[in-house]
Amino acid sequence: MAKKVVVEGKVIGQHVLNITTKQIDVKAPEIAQSAVPGQFVNVQVSKRNSPLLRRPFGIASVNKETGIITMIYRILGDGTKILRDVCSGDEISIVGPLGKGFDLKAKKPLIVGGGLGLAPLLSLAEGMEGKKADVLMGGRCEDDMFWTDYFAPISNNVYVTTDDGSMGIKGTVMAVLPKLLAANKYDCVYVCGPEPMMKAVAAECMKQKIKCQVSLEKYMACGLGACLSCSCEGIGERIKVCTDGPVFWAEEVGEW
Ligand SMILES: Cc1cc2nc3c(=O)[nH]c(=O)nc-3n(C[C@H](O)[C@H](O)[C@H](O)COP(=O)(O)OP(=O)(O)OC[C@H]3O[C@@H](n4cnc5c(N)ncnc54)[C@H](O)[C@@H]3O)c2cc1C
Repeated sequence: MAKKVVVEGKVIGQHVLNITTKQIDVKAPEIAQSAVPGQFVNVQVSKRNSPLLRRPFGIASVNKETGIITMIYRILGDGTKILRDVCSGDEISIVGPLGKGFDLKAKKPLIVGGGLGLAPLLSLAEGMEGKKADVLMGGRCEDDMFWTDYFAPISNNVYVTTDDGSMGIKGTVMAVLPKLLAANKYDCVYVCGPEPMMKAVAAECMKQKIKCQVSLEKYMACGLGACLSCSCEGIGERIKVCTDGPVFWAEEVGEW
């Protein structure tokens, strides 16, 4: 397992992706060197210790040559509002890489993501060891689908659904997934997004007998397996999202 470190990462820049979403690039060579797709970092958004707890973000992209890691985040509450205002040249404390990443052995992978769940899946699409995945992505509207610019150059086919039909097929990813699975010989589906979406995708994969890996997102405090705030029901035992996951085989998750 990759060694986790605490670093003062220098912020290289931030980009606005839409009204609630930003990309932040941070120089953190020690993390960039050892991170694998699906892992996350725990970020202290303010040096004033308020908010006290670090905030977890999936590693969306890694450049091992420059040592820059990229996170894509939604501005939600106190922590991400502070992060939004961090400037180039500022330093932020980051712990990582944390958690267990994706199993990359699939020969014909399908990536399915919804909303900010697409962030860790981007590092997966980048790191598929020479394979290009098909990608099915869902969002509320066209404005949320800046993701196509990230995925299209590094993926095979990209399929888009939006709740309001402003881009791609109208509906959720479930409007497309059953037929897509039936028409292709995918050997693994990788999914991250809102819980109801992940449950529905995992159930369809089970029905069509296709392996499925899910990346769970649970409230967590330490990110190191100590506080148990992110534990949930697995099959026969409690599982900790921060250290046993965040990536699990769908059948390992008992109660989401
Ligand atoms: C392993 C992991 C990876 C993550 N990766 C990303 C990522 O790549 N990009 C991204 O934007 N976010 C990601 N998140 C979620 C991110 O950590 C939270 O959005 C962030 O902590 C919110 O902090 P805040 O202080 O702005 O909001 P808070 O003030 O803490 O919360 C604001 C509101 O957001 C909701 N909320 C906050 N955190 C979560 C959560 N974990 N699950 C569900 N609802 C929540 C709550 O309803 C709350 O009312 C990830 C979470 C985990 C556990």
